[in-house]
Amino acid sequence: MPSLADLKQALDLRREEQLWRKAPLLESAQGVLIQLEGQEVINFCSNDYLGLAADPRLEEALIQGARRWGTGSGASHQVCGHQSPHQQLEEELAKLTGRQAALTFSSGYLANLAAVQTFVGRGDQVFQDRLNHASLLDAGLASGAASRRFQHRDYQQLEGLLKAPTKGRRLLVSDGVFSMDGDQADIQQLVTLAEKHQAWLLIDDAHGLGVLGEAGGGLVGQQFSSEQVPLLTGTLGKALGSAGAFIAGDQLVIDYLRQFARQYIYTTAQPAAQACVTLRALRVLQEEPERRRQVFNNIAYFRDQALAAGLPLMASTTPIQPLLLETNERALHWSQALKAQGLLVMAIRPPTVPKGSARLRITLSAGHSRQQIDQLLEALLALQASESQGVSLG
Ligand code: PMP
Repeated sequence: MPSLADLKQALDLRREEQLWRKAPLLESAQGVLIQLEGQEVINFCSNDYLGLAADPRLEEALIQGARRWGTGSGASHQVCGHQSPHQQLEEELAKLTGRQAALTFSSGYLANLAAVQTFVGRGDQVFQDRLNHASLLDAGLASGAASRRFQHRDYQQLEGLLKAPTKGRRLLVSDGVFSMDGDQADIQQLVTLAEKHQAWLLIDDAHGLGVLGEAGGGLVGQQFSSEQVPLLTGTLGKALGSAGAFIAGDQLVIDYLRQFARQYIYTTAQPAAQACVTLRALRVLQEEPERRRQVFNNIAYFRDQALAAGLPLMASTTPIQPLLLETNERALHWSQALKAQGLLVMAIRPPTVPKGSARLRITLSAGHSRQQIDQLLEALLALQASESQGVSLG
């Protein structure tokens, strides 16, 4: 048993190391303009990339969904919580990602646990990119399989690891778009390596879904077959403005998960009304491709301006545009200074990112106007200028 004094000491240390996390309290719906602790701010840190999280059509879908299907599913899927909207959503998600079937979960964290733990265990091996999302890394450890991590996108090192002969199953796991860096895995290389070394490939396309791919089907969806990427996970709480997640794959794989995935079987199904919201979002995705075009226009504009001004942007072509500030103090200082000017950008620090790579995780949405992006750029440039002045004054 840890003593209360132990807990207090650990908390004090968190504060001292500038690692204390405090959730900002929103007093409004999600969106580009939000109310935060009595102040109106422009939001540059949500994953609501297409501006759908407070879309009136999705809100209406929730209301109508609740009237028709109730507010709670009342049970796990296998008992009596599986309602028609869940079923329809699974079919639509399979279509969107070019798979035979899909299975929905209450969150991406759970979907990732299921995608790993259902297929590997003791005596098996899991190969992970070091910067994979925490849920994937946790899943690997919890599975009991041996975890082998390779440096971020270092596929040569990965191949070295894969070459070592092993018994048991091998699962190769990667984010599609890396959540704190915004860069992308080279899926083709991963597919080639997985085929060559008899490993199964799992890609988490949480940040690609809805944004990347021809119809918003993600980085993997229509581009890679289920033979190449047998396990594909995605979340519904980001670009789709809803909540929940899914695994997509061949019918047999999904049937197996339905029978054996503990994260599916032993938890209450998400409310069917939430599935109605996602179904509505999928229609918007199809009917309004201009949302995807707009987010990419915003990304291109922001990057051009920021790079021309010498801001330390990381290499990313996705809506996640991190600014590398290295120290925790600096990242916190910039985040606080921006907030004072009505701009919300979170400082991301270890252990979420490696030590010495604290950053501002700027995210762009189709909903941001040119003027709002200019306002952010101006504030960032002023911070950069004030720092270099500070240095030259000694
Ligand atoms: N995978 C990645 C890459 C993510 O960024 C996240 C969310 N932070 C998740 C999985 C978890 O998804 P959810 O929020 O639906 O639990």
